Amino acid sequence: MIDYNKAVEIADRVWWVGSYLKDDIFQCHVYLIENGDQSILIDPGSVLTFKETLKKIKSVTTLENIKYIVCHHQDPDITGALPLFEKLIKRDDVVIYTHARAINLLKHLGLKTPFKCVEANGWVLVAGSRKVEFIFTPYMHFPGAFCTYDRDNQILFSSDIFGGFSKNWSLFARDESYFEDMRLFHEHYMPSRDIVVHALNRVETYPIKLIAPQHGSIIPENLIKGTFNYIKNLECGLYLMTHTSTDIKKLSNLHKLLKDFLEVLTSYTEFKDIISMCLVKLNEAFKSSMMKFYIDDNGLKLFYTTDSSHRDSLQPLLNTLFDQLKSGKVTNWIKHDSSYLYIGDNLELTKYVVLPLYDNEKCQNIGLALFYIPFLNEIDNETKSTLIEISKPLSVAIEREILFRSLDNEREKFYIQSTKDPLTGLFTRYYMRQTVVKLLSIHNRNESASFAIMMLDIDFFKKINDNFGHSVGDLVLKKVGKVIIEECRIGDIPVRFGGEEFLIFAESSSLKQACAAAQRIRARIEESDFSKLIGDNNVTVSIGVVFHKQEESLDHVIERADSVLYKAKKQGRNRVLCD
Ligand code: GH3
Ligand code: MG
Ligand code: MG
Repeated sequence: MIDYNKAVEIADRVWWVGSYLKDDIFQCHVYLIENGDQSILIDPGSVLTFKETLKKIKSVTTLENIKYIVCHHQDPDITGALPLFEKLIKRDDVVIYTHARAINLLKHLGLKTPFKCVEANGWVLVAGSRKVEFIFTPYMHFPGAFCTYDRDNQILFSSDIFGGFSKNWSLFARDESYFEDMRLFHEHYMPSRDIVVHALNRVETYPIKLIAPQHGSIIPENLIKGTFNYIKNLECGLYLMTHTSTDIKKLSNLHKLLKDFLEVLTSYTEFKDIISMCLVKLNEAFKSSMMKFYIDDNGLKLFYTTDSSHRDSLQPLLNTLFDQLKSGKVTNWIKHDSSYLYIGDNLELTKYVVLPLYDNEKCQNIGLALFYIPFLNEIDNETKSTLIEISKPLSVAIEREILFRSLDNEREKFYIQSTKDPLTGLFTRYYMRQTVVKLLSIHNRNESASFAIMMLDIDFFKKINDNFGHSVGDLVLKKVGKVIIEECRIGDIPVRFGGEEFLIFAESSSLKQACAAAQRIRARIEESDFSKLIGDNNVTVSIGVVFHKQEESLDHVIERADSVLYKAKKQGRNRVLCD
């Protein structure tokens, strides 16, 4: 256990001389590089921490040994104690090192102690045998901000960078749990990720064994790499979200929600996965138990809900709200920033927010998203803004969903076109080739999986065309196709093989059975009434039936069926021949 009432030597002759403020999540640290009569005091602290810091400095060295004071920026938690130190340090060559931008402000303290600009002095301070370097890290979080690097000990005195808000503060960060403390601090205080990354890239070029920030905890070597990676990925500039609230935790949570949503949308493509993952995130943020979507896909209305027990209760409302939005009658809606949202109550005294989903490319509303937000009396402006923000990536997800749906429909249409002959409704040769190979290979492996092939050809079909025209011929083909389909059993594969030639692949245990089936088809066609198309003439077919032999190719067995059919034609047509 470290005794925070005493100075703590964090590296060789480098001391923490800060003052631990009980129950303060925002600890402010002071460091001392003990260097004989050229000692360096870093960020001397405030009026509040002065007494403790003074006691601790005196336990390490005398006040008169402090020759240099470094102020990383001008805030009162760093500089409030300067006038007090000035009074007590009895030597007249003390110098304050800081940036010119801080000097412009600190001069208002009316100090006698002279300032030295870090930038005008080559960004170094040579103190006898010791030397510290200054690293310019602008806007962290002030334009003249910088860090101090002690090369002897490889310590970075990082000022505001790597600080944290800690509930259970410890002088040294224990493990990665400190990252969460840093997240709040950086997201809220640092201006933007770009600027933070810029500063971190500069600092990272120095070998660092220990990071001693002005707030939060000292970061030991084993956590340094992780710390850099973590901070570089934070979204900073949370204050940009602020309307009326400066509740850091709330803003940070809202920001996290927004970030999580974006992450979900880039990690998942299935709409179902997206909404269920988004609901998990909404639940973390607001205890939301459901989301609903109303989508208008060119007039086709679609509803999605994450909660089936509520399936229909809000659909009529969403319908109405969408109509209102489309027609511009938004009197029931709330205008927020440049967007509209609808807030409703239901019987369980919970609230829901309805947000428009907008297709930026088509410049039109494509639907609505409804979020259920229980336990909220008032939905504040920051929450409204966040929900509006998350409706943007959701709109993209919906756009994508609509596109995928239409692609699926196209694909299905195309599939049907390529598998079914549009005139007769029978399978195409293309489909036959894909499917029948499977029948063949099953039969090759298993003798009992035998099947017959029937080849049908309409008798004197040319005459029908010649006498009644091609379009009547088409209708005759269509009707023959219909009879074939009706006569086929489930599992049979009827194919339009050519103009007026058909194949049927039928599982069958014997040639006799297959021939009987073929006879039935022939008879049904002969008996069918074609009078509306071709008057008194009837339509007949000839059929050749063969059995597939194991290992026989598809083309070969079709050839055999064709030659049996040829024989049937030769023998007078309107008959079935088997081989
Ligand atoms: P056979 O009894 O020997 O089979 O005599 P057939 O007249 O039926 O035989 P042939 O092969 O000489 O003539 C078949 C005709 O079928 C020729 C062709 O114009 C016609 N035909 C092929 N496909 C179609 C089609 O999709 N629609 C129409 N209407 N006719 C077609
Ligand atoms: Mg023919
Ligand atoms: Mg024919």
